[in-house]
Amino acid sequence: MLSSGRRVVIVGGGISGLSAAFWLRQGGINVKVIERCARPGGVIRSELLQGYTIDHAANCLMNYLPEVSYLCETVGLSNHQVFRQDRAEKRYMVKQGRVVEVPTRVLDIVKSSYWSPLAKVRMLLEPLVPKASPATQESVANFIRRRFGREMYERGIEPFIAGTLAGDAERVCARSALPRFSELENQYGSIIKGALIKKFHGNQSTYPKHIFSFKAGMEALPAAIAGYLGESMQVDSEVQTIERQGQHWVLKITSADGIDTLKADAVIMATPATVTASLLQPLSALLASQLRSIVYAPMVVLTLGFNAADIDHPLDGIGCLIPAVERKQVLGTLWSSSLFAHRAPAAKVLLTCYMGGMLNQGILQHTDQELCSQVLQEIKHLLGAHKEPDFVRVIRHARGLPQYHLGHQQRLQRIATQLHLLPGLYLTGNYLDGVSVRDCISRGRKVALDVAEGLTGVNDLRHISESVVSSASRAGSTH
Ligand SMILES: Cc1cc2nc3c(=O)[nH]c(=O)nc-3n(C[C@H](O)[C@H](O)[C@H](O)COP(=O)(O)OP(=O)(O)OC[C@H]3O[C@@H](n4cnc5c(N)ncnc54)[C@H](O)[C@@H]3O)c2cc1C
Repeated sequence: MLSSGRRVVIVGGGISGLSAAFWLRQGGINVKVIERCARPGGVIRSELLQGYTIDHAANCLMNYLPEVSYLCETVGLSNHQVFRQDRAEKRYMVKQGRVVEVPTRVLDIVKSSYWSPLAKVRMLLEPLVPKASPATQESVANFIRRRFGREMYERGIEPFIAGTLAGDAERVCARSALPRFSELENQYGSIIKGALIKKFHGNQSTYPKHIFSFKAGMEALPAAIAGYLGESMQVDSEVQTIERQGQHWVLKITSADGIDTLKADAVIMATPATVTASLLQPLSALLASQLRSIVYAPMVVLTLGFNAADIDHPLDGIGCLIPAVERKQVLGTLWSSSLFAHRAPAAKVLLTCYMGGMLNQGILQHTDQELCSQVLQEIKHLLGAHKEPDFVRVIRHARGLPQYHLGHQQRLQRIATQLHLLPGLYLTGNYLDGVSVRDCISRGRKVALDVAEGLTGVNDLRHISESVVSSASRAGSTH
C-alpha cells in the first residue's frame, strides 16, 4: 500500500466525491470527505413508502465498466444488487397518443409500425451522408437530422435527450451527449457503417453490460461507500471558504460544533458547478465564471403506486419516453416495479414519472396538487389506469441535471487551463463529462489517480488500481 502521509480533502459527499475518496483510500492515501447534509449521496436518495421502494434521482446504474463492479464488490454490495428483470427488456415510446413498442434490432425495425416507410429509407441512406468536419460544433438535433432525417430525430433521439438528460436537443452539444456516435462519424464517415465494422471485427467492449440497482434502492451505494470510508466521512459540515496558505490549502468548515479549519495537501471539489464557482471565486474569477455558465435543468420526479389490476397496460418493459411533438407534460415514465423485483408490494406496481427539463423550465412554479393532477391525467390516458393510485410522491430538483450545451468542450478546456494555475486543486462532478452514476464513479477514479500522482510524483496508485480493476473485469465477464 502507498501511504504518502499527506491529506486530501474532498468537498461534497455525492457519488462523485465518494468515489474519488474510495479510489484514494484504495491507494492508502489519507482522505477526508466533507458533506453539508446529514446523509451522504447528494441527489441519490431512496425511501421506503407504504411498502414501495422509491428513488428520488438515479433509479439504476447502466454499467459496462469493470471499475464500477469492483467498487460495488469492495464496499460489500455484491449480495445486495438487483438486476433488470427479463420482463423489462422492451422499450416503448408514445406515438399519436398511444404507447408503442420501439424496435431495437435491425430486422424488427424493418417490420415495425413505429417508423414510417420514409423514415426507414432515410435511415438506410445514412452511410451516404457526407461526414462533417471534426471542427464542426453541432447540436444533437442538427447532427441527427443531418445523418438520419427528421423522424429519427423527433421520435428517436429528442425524447431520449429530454427524458434521460432533461435536455433541449436543439442546444445540447452532439459530441458531449452522443460521443460514441460522433466518434463513429469521425472515424468511419457513417454511424451505421462504423457500428457494423466494429461488430464484424469484434472491436467492442468485452465487459458485459448490466442494468442494476440495490435491494434497498440506489442510496445503498453511497451509504456503503461512506461505511467503507468510516471516520473519513464527515457529514453535517459545510465548507465555507478555501484558501491557499504556502504549500497547503486551508478550508473553513461550519457544523453544529461551530467553525473549524482543515489543512490539506490537495483538495477535490465534488460540489455542483454553481457551488464550486462560489467557493473558488476568490481564487480564480475566470474559473468561477466558466463554472457558473453551466446551466442546470429543473426536474420533478413523481412516483406513483397503483394496484396492478387497475392498469390496463402490461408494463412489460423498462418504461416509455414521450417525444416533445406529442405535447405532453410528462417526459417519460420508468416502470420501476417491472425493471427490478421488490420495488412494490405484491399485486402493486410502481411508476416513476419525470417532468420539467430545459423544455419546461417553469415546472417548479406548479403546486404539488397541479403536478399530481397533470401526471395522473396523462398516465390514466396512456397506460389505461382506471382507479386512483395508493400514493403520489412529488420530488423537486431545482438544479436537476447539468446541461452540456454547444461550446461545452471548449468550456472544459478553459476550465482545465485555469485549474492548471491552481496546483493541488481538482474538480469532479456530473457537470464535466457524463451525468450518469457510472460516469461519476469512473471520473472519481481518474481524479484520484491524478491527485495521487500530483502528491507523490509516482503512479503507483495507477498500477494498484489497474490490477484490481482488471481482476474485477475477469469476474464480471463470468457474471
Ligand atoms: C431526477 C434524476 C434522475 C436521475 N436518474 C439517473 C439514473 O437512473 N441513472 C444514473 O446513472 N444517473 C441518474 N441521474 C444522475 C445522477 O444521479 C447524478 O448525476 C449524480 O448522482 C450526481 O452526483 P454528484 O456527486 O456529482 O453531485 P451531487 O449528488 O449533487 O453531490 C454534491 C454534494 O455536494 C454537497 N455540497 C454542496 N455544497 C457543499 C459545501 N459547501 N460543503 C460540503 N458539501 C457540499 C451536496 O450536499 C451534495 O451531497 C439522475 C439525476 C436526477 C436529478
